[in-house]
Amino acid sequence: MHDARLPDDDAGDRPGALKRTFIEAPGRAPRGFVVRSLASPQPKREETAMHDHRKLGRELGLFDTDPLIGSGLPYWLPDGAVIRHTLEEYIRDAERRAGYRHVYSPVLGKRELYEISGHWSHYSDDMFPPMDLGGEQVVLRPSLCPHHALIYRSRSHSYRELPLRVAELGGMYRSELSGVLGGLTRVRAIQLNDAHIFCTLDQVAAEAAGALEMIRRAYAALGIRPVRYRLSLPGAGGKYVAAPEMWRRATAMLTDVLDRSGLAYEAAEGEAAFYGPKIDVQIADGAGREATLSTVQVDFHQPEQFDLHYIGPDGGRHRPVMVHRSIIGSVERAVAHLIEVYGGAFPAWLAPTQVVVLPVTEAELPQAEALVRRCAELGLRAEVSGPEHGSLGARVRAARLAPYQAVIGAKEAVGDEVALRLRDGRALNAMPAAEALARIGGLVEARAAALWESES
Ligand SMILES: [Zn+2]
Repeated sequence: MHDARLPDDDAGDRPGALKRTFIEAPGRAPRGFVVRSLASPQPKREETAMHDHRKLGRELGLFDTDPLIGSGLPYWLPDGAVIRHTLEEYIRDAERRAGYRHVYSPVLGKRELYEISGHWSHYSDDMFPPMDLGGEQVVLRPSLCPHHALIYRSRSHSYRELPLRVAELGGMYRSELSGVLGGLTRVRAIQLNDAHIFCTLDQVAAEAAGALEMIRRAYAALGIRPVRYRLSLPGAGGKYVAAPEMWRRATAMLTDVLDRSGLAYEAAEGEAAFYGPKIDVQIADGAGREATLSTVQVDFHQPEQFDLHYIGPDGGRHRPVMVHRSIIGSVERAVAHLIEVYGGAFPAWLAPTQVVVLPVTEAELPQAEALVRRCAELGLRAEVSGPEHGSLGARVRAARLAPYQAVIGAKEAVGDEVALRLRDGRALNAMPAAEALARIGGLVEARAAALWESES
């Protein structure tokens, strides 16, 4: 295929950001890896703090696989589904607040769609083979971009509507070889947190910077630490659409956004999408294996391929730019990472069970069951662990991953109170049950990292 490497040599007449990146590089690794700046130290992960999400996912009953469904096709058990749903709602909420509009689009499309987008010629190795359907060929989609381009194209747009931010948590498929599949990190069916921003050239930088800011906030809320920001460029011999000028402009824009952000980043060749360069946010697992979680891409190619346009102030037709961005990447990989980061001890808002209610004896069982019902009415996830599960001490230990344990003894039962134990070992004085639930509800609502707000 075409070699779409950026031509270093003709960058002389355009002193753009790309060239600056290469010049500033303190040293060039043997091939393809340019370190721009690592002045601010990268966060180091404690070696022992990370867990294997596959092992933990099974132990905690979050997800599993069945040979009859197939490898790389995990299913989600109720507790895993809670985490996933909560994460998806967090993302949708963040996107709504940032002015995104959500859509749904089908996971199938005709082969011609991917011929136009370029996936067929540049990406077919990763696609499932097409299905013949009454003379047509239909494929499981390898990305959401073409559908969103068609959604944009289905209506005429004025420059006043731009930037138009279209978001979807949608399914896509990748024909990974079975040898590399495992847990939630390498799967064949992917739920992608995706969005495409259709905008004018002038708006690209602000939109890309806005997406980086959303990523920063999401990581803070979720407790995810990036190991590096990477500017992913095309490499030699890869399959890329060839239009050197287009690649150079897109790269210059992303470089500029990164430079303005103040974030330390590295440029890496051979990691670009086939249609354009991208900013990748890298995370690492316990073994130090890196993966891309979040991405921001500038694309001049697909708007051209799909003949997208908007009506400008001059009344003429103009070509929009497409900014592809993902805050948490695939839901599968994001949840796998959260399992590894927290070792099952999720923040209260993400925890499958938020409150475990512990009646001291059988006598308090009615009050315990009533408290679970009150939790459910408030939107809190609670369950009873009664004396049939052993001594109070044994039940406290069994519920050690739950953020809150509500102990009800004879005294609490009479006074409609609970004695809260927090996951970090703190035991609070008995308080009215209504107050305890209101405070827990407030912390969950705020997606707080802290288990309790101390009185100030
Ligand atoms: Zn896309």
